[in-house]
This record gives sequence, structure tokens and C-alpha cells, in this order.
Amino acid sequence: MSSEIHASYLIIGAGVFGASTALHLAKKYLPPATDEPIKIILVDRPVVPYHTSASQDQSKVIRADYAGPLYTRLALEAKHLWRSDSLYKEIYHETGLIWADMNKTNFAKDVIANYQHLGIVEDDNDAKYRLVPPSEIRRLHNGLFSRADLDNIDEIFLNASSGWVEANKTLQNVIDAAVCTGVVKHIEAEIARLIFDDDGHVCTGAQTVDGQIILLIESVPEIPELHVGSRLSAAGLITGILRLSQNEASQLRSAPAFLFAGGKSQENELKITCDISFTNTVEIFSKVYVSMPPEDCMSTYSVLSAEMNRALAAVRESILGDGTRNHSFEDRRICWDAITPDQNFIISAHPHCRNLFIATGGSFHAWKFLPILGKYVVQMLEDRLDPDLAQRWFWNRDFSAGAANERMMPVRELTDIGQ
Ligand SMILES: Cc1cc2nc3c(=O)[nH]c(=O)nc-3n(C[C@H](O)[C@H](O)[C@H](O)COP(=O)(O)OP(=O)(O)OC[C@H]3O[C@@H](n4cnc5c(N)ncnc54)[C@H](O)[C@@H]3O)c2cc1C
Repeated sequence: MSSEIHASYLIIGAGVFGASTALHLAKKYLPPATDEPIKIILVDRPVVPYHTSASQDQSKVIRADYAGPLYTRLALEAKHLWRSDSLYKEIYHETGLIWADMNKTNFAKDVIANYQHLGIVEDDNDAKYRLVPPSEIRRLHNGLFSRADLDNIDEIFLNASSGWVEANKTLQNVIDAAVCTGVVKHIEAEIARLIFDDDGHVCTGAQTVDGQIILLIESVPEIPELHVGSRLSAAGLITGILRLSQNEASQLRSAPAFLFAGGKSQENELKITCDISFTNTVEIFSKVYVSMPPEDCMSTYSVLSAEMNRALAAVRESILGDGTRNHSFEDRRICWDAITPDQNFIISAHPHCRNLFIATGGSFHAWKFLPILGKYVVQMLEDRLDPDLAQRWFWNRDFSAGAANERMMPVRELTDIGQ
């Protein structure tokens, strides 16, 4: 038996885009009217955060280091809230961040030029950045990185005003804060399909796999222009957790996060990420291909277990030397994010369907914007997004400029791992 729920907004996905939107949207409807049905429904697959969700993680890096002004400005806007808002400040740790660019790209120099262009000089409270020699990194924190593989690097970018955040805890806090307003109802369910009006140009709701209908009536068009095409692809990164001794953990706790390949979290855990991404391309309709996480992630992990271990161990040793060799990895998984060809987000109305809006495309860098993403999604819903942002995040924009950070683009398929 199917049942029906009515709402003004249905948000599918409680990752950083969905959760932040729920909270920002809810604030517009406070205090809740007692005689009205629930305004906003936030749906995600049980149990939130779902294990293939990009936003689910032990920790995420918070930085404003970009080669262009837009995301730096947004990251600084978010950082202000990471530092000051009671929802975030206890779980944000401003330990600094090291970028060790093994590929010797111009990234660090571009980041510095961008800061200077924005009038943010070295030692600014917002960005205490410096280029330092590897010898200085090796001396940091009583020689924590003394055995890091930095031999081929001349200069390393260090930003003391970046940091990391306890990701799962923060995401749950934001969802709880949204629900606490009384305007948002959070439902754990998987959406099976969207529901459209008869000609397919108005989205009227969605149906869960259990048959529950959210919003109005049905009809399922097969309309090619509604499809995602090549705008969004799921790309995966291998991550794993090292459990440390009390001593090791206390040495690491205040140490900077280490990019391109690290992260941290609490309770004696060190998160390691391999930053070479891959896709999992499947045929969803005849000759229509999309990259999406495998249906059965758990059996994929067990098939790839040895390869995942090898990849993680190589990263661990290139940062810490073989000092943590005795610890095996726990919670190994593939973290999937939706990437766009130019790595800008998609925050846009669907041009071919009324009532259908898309906010995603984090492209491996959206987490840090959690405090402000919803604000921009609400501006898009109300058609008052700054024209430059609206163009940059539009569903039908020109993607031909290519990726801003080429090295994070997938270069292989999941099936290539281990071959
Ligand atoms: C390994 C890794 C490390 C990263 N590190 C950082 C970092 O340090 N700093 C940073 O800023 N960014 C980082 N990112 C990027 C960031 O995590 C993502 O860009 C961001 O979390 C994407 O958020 P989202 O809401 O678009 O997607 P998600 O978090 O994936 O949320 C989408 C949600 O939709 C739900 N969903 C999907 N289909 C359905 C359905 N049919 N029914 C119901 N629910 C559904 C999913 O369960 C999921 O929870 C990293 C990404 C990865 C993969």
C-alpha cells in the first residue's frame, strides 16, 4: 500500500548540499505555522549519513586555497562561520594545512597570486600562508614528518589558518538543527523515482522504494533532455583509517593536515586518502552511460581489499615514513563524489522541468562550504542568485573550458584498480 505526504519542498539527499539547504530554507519559514502541513521534507537512504555519501566522513579539510577568486571568497565566507557559529566552532580545528605537491605544478604559486589579487597578504588572519622548504616541514611537530617523501619537492605550501572538521558529527548537527526548527521533517527512505505531470515538464513529487509518495500524482516520462548526460559523474577515492596509540595520536592532534593525501579525526584515528580518482561507468538505458557507485559496495570492497590496502599503505609511507607500518587500515571504503567537467558546482533550476532543482557537483571540494551552501541554493530557488554565480553553476552551461584542477579528474575505471 502506498501512502502520501504533502510538502512544499522535497530535498533528496542529506549530504552537505541537501542538509545546508534544509537549514537555510527552514530559517525562512520560522516560526512554523501550527495549522500548516510540514514545509520541507529531507530524504536520505537509511542510515544517514549513507555509506556512499561523499559528505559522510571522519574528517574533511577546510581551506580557502584556490587558484581563482570565486571559491576563495566563498571559502572565507564559510570560514568565518566555521570559526564563530556555535553550530560549527567546537568541531572545527584550525591546525594548518600542508600542500605537498609531488607533481610540481604551479598550484601553490597560483594560490598565492590569487590571495595577493584579493588583497590578502601573508599572515592575514584569514590566510597565514607561506612557501617553506621541505626541511622546515620535517622539523614540524617534533619531526612528525621527518620521514615524509619530500625529496623531489623544492617548496611546500603551508597555510596555518586552514584546518579540518569532524565531518559526520557536523553533518548530523546541521540535520538536527534543521529538524529542530519544526519546519523540516527528516525521512530515512530511498527515492525510487521522480513523479512528473503528464507532459513531463513539471516535477510533482517522488516515490520511495517502499511505495510512499511525497507530493502529488504520477506519470513517468522518459525524456532525454531531463537526463544528466555528461554534466555529473560519480568519481571515487580510496580512503582508510589508521588507529593510533595514545602517544601517536597526541603527537598528531595539533599537527597540520597534509594534502594531497591526508586528513585527521578524533579518537586516535588518522584518515588517509589516495587522491587518484576513478569512475564506475554503467549503461543505464540502451547506449546511455553514467558513472555511479556500484550497487553492492561491500562486495566491491572485499574483491579489491588487497589493492585498496596497497594503495593506502603507499600514501601512509610517503607522509609518515614506515613509522605506522604496524597498524592495519580500518574502515576502508571508496568515497564517491559527483564531479562536473569544470569542477564548478551545479546549483540550478532544471531548464526543461518546472519544480525540479539540482544542487550538487561537489567535485571533491564542496564540504568546506557546508555553512553557506544552503544560502546560495535558497537564492537560486528565489531567482536572486548573483548572475556570475548563476551562470557558473547553471545546468546548461558551457563545460568546454575543462577542469580547474586537472589532477583530481578521474583517469581510470574502478575495474582498472589492481590490474
Ligand atoms: C574522499 C573524499 C574526500 C573529500 N575531502 C574533502 C575535503 O577535505 N574538503 C572539502 O571541502 N571537500 C571534500 N570532498 C568533497 C565533498 O565531500 C563533496 O563535494 C560533498 O560532500 C558532496 O556533497 P553532496 O551533498 O553533493 O553529495 P553526498 O554527500 O553524496 O550527498 C548525496 C546524498 O543523496 C543521497 N541519495 C542519493 N540517491 C538517493 C535516493 N535515490 N534516495 C534517497 N537519497 C539518495 C545519498 O545517500 C547521499 O547521502 C571530498 C570528497 C571525497 C570523496
